[in-house]
Amino acid sequence: MLFHMEFLSHKEGRMAAAFVDTAKIFISAGRGGNGAVAFHREKYVTNGGPDGGDGGRGGSVVLVPDPSLSTLMDFRYKRKYAAEAGADGSSAKKSGRDGKDLIIKVPQGTVVRDAETGQVIQDMSGVDRFVAARGGRGGWGNQHFATPTRQAPRFAKAGLPGESREVILELKLLADVGLVGFPNVGKSTLLSVVSKAHPKIANYHFTTLMPNLGVVYVEEGVSFVMADIPGIIEGASEGAGLGHDFLRHIDRCRLLVHLVDVSGSEGRDPVEDFDIINAELKEYSPELATRPMLVCGNKSDLCYDSDNAARLKAHVEAQGYQYFDLSAATHAGVQPLVRKIAEELASLPPVKVFEADYVPQPPVIDTTGEVSIETEDHYWFVEAPWLEHLVACTTFSDFESRNWFDRQLREAGLFDKLEAMGIQDGDTVVLYDLQFEYQR
Ligand code: GDP
Ligand code: MG
Repeated sequence: MLFHMEFLSHKEGRMAAAFVDTAKIFISAGRGGNGAVAFHREKYVTNGGPDGGDGGRGGSVVLVPDPSLSTLMDFRYKRKYAAEAGADGSSAKKSGRDGKDLIIKVPQGTVVRDAETGQVIQDMSGVDRFVAARGGRGGWGNQHFATPTRQAPRFAKAGLPGESREVILELKLLADVGLVGFPNVGKSTLLSVVSKAHPKIANYHFTTLMPNLGVVYVEEGVSFVMADIPGIIEGASEGAGLGHDFLRHIDRCRLLVHLVDVSGSEGRDPVEDFDIINAELKEYSPELATRPMLVCGNKSDLCYDSDNAARLKAHVEAQGYQYFDLSAATHAGVQPLVRKIAEELASLPPVKVFEADYVPQPPVIDTTGEVSIETEDHYWFVEAPWLEHLVACTTFSDFESRNWFDRQLREAGLFDKLEAMGIQDGDTVVLYDLQFEYQR
């Protein structure tokens, strides 16, 4: 956390130019290598047995959270990521080399979504690594296909394609406390007063392009991370529309601190401002709107004889919120607020990790194409381009996936065909790198 903040301020110049917090990328794992057809050769031995080695596994695409990254900027420039294919097998039972995994580093707070459905596949803040696309299995060499009557199998299996998918990366900052409020209410000022972060104060246009994080030290062993998200509702007063884009950065926050300008210096009504922001939060996410929130009437140093602060206090307390008088500029009320935040955090659940809600849809595979079936000595060798795809898409360690596979074969009429050709219980069916005993 601490490291994250320091990195932010260190890189502030560069980041201000381009804070990128979403990206869509296409990832593809490597294809498995092909199995080899080869025969054992040795002096004085005439007919050596089949010794073609297996193809290597294709490399996978692996996402790894990296605390030193704070934007998804790199993904603006490179959108396609492919891991290495597995090498083909060779003679003397030599397996092909496995393809190298492709490691893609992402910021810690990255949430990975399926590009088509928007469903969450993985929140990177909860893991050390995540295999986002699995490499294809290598094909078997002909060493596996010898049978008592087939002494010299002249075929091997092709490697299977790797998984590929389009995903959306979405950065959601990791912070305990999120500051919300209209522009100019003093959010950046407060963050700069309570932490070592140096957000730009006042309206430099580019400050609206990046969130700021700061670590707030309360006392020995007690600290928390506070986020200032300058993009919230920026431009709203000019009728530019209310931007929700930056709200994703407070999605994970355990506590919201809502700053309201009670000075009336801009001719605004604090009660109205408070309600507008809360309505915005609710529209963005009803769940976020129920997040615990403290309310601060800021710029109280400018409240000469207005009843703004008193009206806001009554308004929010009636809704069950705790109210604090604050002057970020003179620091009045800052320490009690910080202590209160620490006290609240002590009993709140940890920073939110997003649960995966992605439901993998089995691919639609056209199973009507030609099938080649060869048989010899109770072995049945079945091949078809669609079958290769089907085998590649199936996770055989997964019950559901295996059932789906079985259903596809059944619906394609494969078992009927085998029956018609005289297959018997206990015969072996060979489908690419898969071999199973036939049972009616
Ligand atoms: P933000 O847009 O919410 O981040 O607001 P800033 O922190 O950039 O502050 C906007 C302006 O209000 C700046 O000119 C600050 O100096 C000023 N300001 C912030 N807090 C206070 C305060 O407590 N009292 C007074 N008088 N001015 C403040
Ligand atoms: Mg600001």
